[in-house]
Amino acid sequence: MKIYKSIEQFLNSKIEIDNFIPTMGNLHEGHLSLIDKAKENTGNICVSIYVNESQFNNKKDFDNYPITLDLDVKKLKSKNIEYLLIPNKFDIEKFSNPFNIDYAPSYLISDLCGKYRPGHFLAVIDIVHRFLQIINPKNIILGEKDFQQIFCIRELISISKQETNITISPTIRNKHGLALSSRNAHLSNEEKILANNIYGSLILSKDLFHKGSSINEITEAVYDFHKNSLIKLEYFTVRDLKTLQHTYDGDLIALIAAYISDIRLIDNIIIRSNA
Ligand code: AMP
Repeated sequence: MKIYKSIEQFLNSKIEIDNFIPTMGNLHEGHLSLIDKAKENTGNICVSIYVNESQFNNKKDFDNYPITLDLDVKKLKSKNIEYLLIPNKFDIEKFSNPFNIDYAPSYLISDLCGKYRPGHFLAVIDIVHRFLQIINPKNIILGEKDFQQIFCIRELISISKQETNITISPTIRNKHGLALSSRNAHLSNEEKILANNIYGSLILSKDLFHKGSSINEITEAVYDFHKNSLIKLEYFTVRDLKTLQHTYDGDLIALIAAYISDIRLIDNIIIRSNA
């Protein structure tokens, strides 16, 4: 595995990247599953590790973000990928242009997580835009867990007329259903057990849909499920899978964001209309 810590070196090597996997490091099985997914495509694989400060709403969150570089490198080596890029902020900014925020569709940044995390998706779009300029990969591999992020990046690719395909990789969960996330490390053992109910309520929403409940009934049932619990819902909503709007005549996605203490967790489940 060739490691690049400088964008200049990376660009000078003139390698062409087939599959690009952006991460913020602190790699777990969820991240590593993206590599397995990338291997279903042809060609080489480049993972990046970069903690993008501007996408954190809270400086404390950024400062506390776990950095486990040595361990990450070990895990990536064991996956036999070709390239690892570990750039720094100044280098990235030197070799790419910012995203022009005038082009950002307003519904992306003011709805769902965008509503509760002002500036977050703009910062994600900006950093991915910069990586795409630098790396210009054939494919970018993204986890379904961050579905709204995929949605933003799809818009970005379309706006910037980038020729990169998106490969979506399914969410990896622990055996009780909790989606793996770097944030889970901040939960106590009791909180982790409790957090399984986040996925539990998504399963409930899917079951209710297939039993014929209306979207309002489903939403009410999920809020009810978490009532009197230490899980504090920020939002639960069911949307159209393709547009993330409130239309319900095709495949759907149930999206949830919730706090346990001050740890914010997100998850989603796809509800196929004909399943
Ligand atoms: P992050 O390091 O949190 O920025 O995540 C990097 C990539 O890993 C994103 O595409 C995430 O959606 C993906 N990812 C994170 N957690 C999981 C998971 N549990 N299952 C699948 N993909 C994940």
